[in-house]
Amino acid sequence: MTISSYVHARCDVLIVGGGIAGLMTALRLAPLSVTLILKSSLSVGSSTTWAQAGFAAALGVDDSVTQHADDTLAAGAGICDPDVVGLMTREAPGRIQELVDLGVPFDRHPDGSFRLHREAAHEADRVIGVGGDRTGRAFMETIVPLVRSSNKIRIIEEASAEALVMSGDRVSGAFVRGEATKSNPSGETVVLAKAVLLATGGIGGLYRVTTNPPETIGEGIAMAARVGAELADLEFVQFHPTAMNVGLSPAPLATESIRGEGALLVTKSGDRFMSELHPAGELAPRDVVARGVDEQLQGGKGAFLDCREAIGSRFEEAFPTVAESCRRVGIDPATERIPIAPAEHYHMGGIATDAEGRTTVSGLWACGESASGGVHGANRLASNSMLEGLVFSARCADSIAASVGAVPEIDPAKTKIHGAVGQDSDLSVLVDSLRTLMSDSVGVVRTADGLKHAVKETARIESEASGRSSSIASAALTARLIATSAYLRCESRGSHFRADFPSMDLGQAKRSWITLKEANQFLATLK
Ligand SMILES: Cc1cc2nc3c(=O)[nH]c(=O)nc-3n(C[C@H](O)[C@H](O)[C@H](O)COP(=O)(O)OP(=O)(O)OC[C@H]3O[C@@H](n4cnc5c(N)ncnc54)[C@H](O)[C@@H]3O)c2cc1C
Repeated sequence: MTISSYVHARCDVLIVGGGIAGLMTALRLAPLSVTLILKSSLSVGSSTTWAQAGFAAALGVDDSVTQHADDTLAAGAGICDPDVVGLMTREAPGRIQELVDLGVPFDRHPDGSFRLHREAAHEADRVIGVGGDRTGRAFMETIVPLVRSSNKIRIIEEASAEALVMSGDRVSGAFVRGEATKSNPSGETVVLAKAVLLATGGIGGLYRVTTNPPETIGEGIAMAARVGAELADLEFVQFHPTAMNVGLSPAPLATESIRGEGALLVTKSGDRFMSELHPAGELAPRDVVARGVDEQLQGGKGAFLDCREAIGSRFEEAFPTVAESCRRVGIDPATERIPIAPAEHYHMGGIATDAEGRTTVSGLWACGESASGGVHGANRLASNSMLEGLVFSARCADSIAASVGAVPEIDPAKTKIHGAVGQDSDLSVLVDSLRTLMSDSVGVVRTADGLKHAVKETARIESEASGRSSSIASAALTARLIATSAYLRCESRGSHFRADFPSMDLGQAKRSWITLKEANQFLATLK
């Protein structure tokens, strides 16, 4: 589809997404002109706003960059890219200092040193945050005013990128649907740019129970796939083991730090179950805890977080965000146990990038949770994702800034929209069936039959939505790519557990890559 019938706008760099990845890249790109678009407003609708515990970085006297890298590699279960992990952990302390300089009020001891805490699978106190569990909010309160006050950044809120625009084999913008105005009654605009960064976050909204904002449905992955970008490690989806199972959607998160403070996981009859399943007990890697919790729930024994003895009356002060969620549903964590369930929380896979955030398609970069550069492998170490967004946004910005000078002005007559666009709000029933399908067939425990069924069903939903609702068609396509990758990995590793291949296979100890063309070839074999 050509862009001639649409209003168009120009900028040097188009950034899709207003979480840590998008905002930090935008700030660093001045004096280039940036257009930043996001689906909601900057104060809500990103996982960044909701991040609780903080950023991992080797800042403590008993810690080292090497130990941080080793813990990251161990959590990643043999398939992280060690070079990329090395550079992220090395650059972490310097990037945290930049946030301090920008004004992020990290918690400190009375002597002025950082207050560091420990999370699961970290061998040191290494997580730096704000106010116990309000790191994301404090980050946004500091960074958003800086972004808003920049005269180089144009922010378009409540707008959705529906498809990428290409000039030949180079990405040169996106089709955006925003608010209708007098001069643009359809709200449809093509934003032309010399570089495009996808920073669209995770995929939680593809699942029935998630801790993510519902609008995070992996559209960036689908848009990148349609222009031929390589995708990596898509099968690795992390389920947070201790989302609060209290009937709220998104499910509020009972942060890992609560277990770091000694809270226990118990069944409804009060029996601990993690000590039998892993030597680290409640602080075992997330996938192990998620399966432990899932097993108790499937077996009808119930699963609860018991904070009464370890935290008790300190709970309100130590974990104000979780305390607020408890209050909303009438639970007093000082005296009562919190019911929990695993919930989709983080996607290790995404658009494949190099260490500068470049994708395999020219003109296109990706950063944050929507990208996959090899730092997380089969499982993310807690609090490494805010760090990944921080470290790689700086790398993306530098790489984009170094490249746009050589890009010629874009000729609109030579550009094309890649993908069908459209918005039909009557299709919400399709979203419900997609979320149920993903939770049942591409969830904590997977099988070949379930995954094949998911591939076929997601393709059906995609074709039903195609041309009518770009966001649902994109969600379904991303879901299909995840299910296909999960089918193709015939082993269990990190967060990916196959009941039909329950062991890790040394022969498969490598990252996975897939393109849309390959996924379509696989689909054709199932028909
Ligand atoms: C409850 C919770 C607690 C967490 N706690 C921690 C923690 O303590 N430490 C840690 O390291 N990680 C934590 N995480 C994970 C971490 O917050 C995320 O991985 C990280 O913030 C992702 O940042 P991002 O910029 O990639 O994406 P996000 O912050 O999710 O932002 C995505 C942006 O993309 C926009 N967008 C998406 N699609 C489109 C589209 N089609 N068009 C326009 N805009 C679009 C969205 O509106 C949003 O602005 C937590 C996550 C959750 C949900």
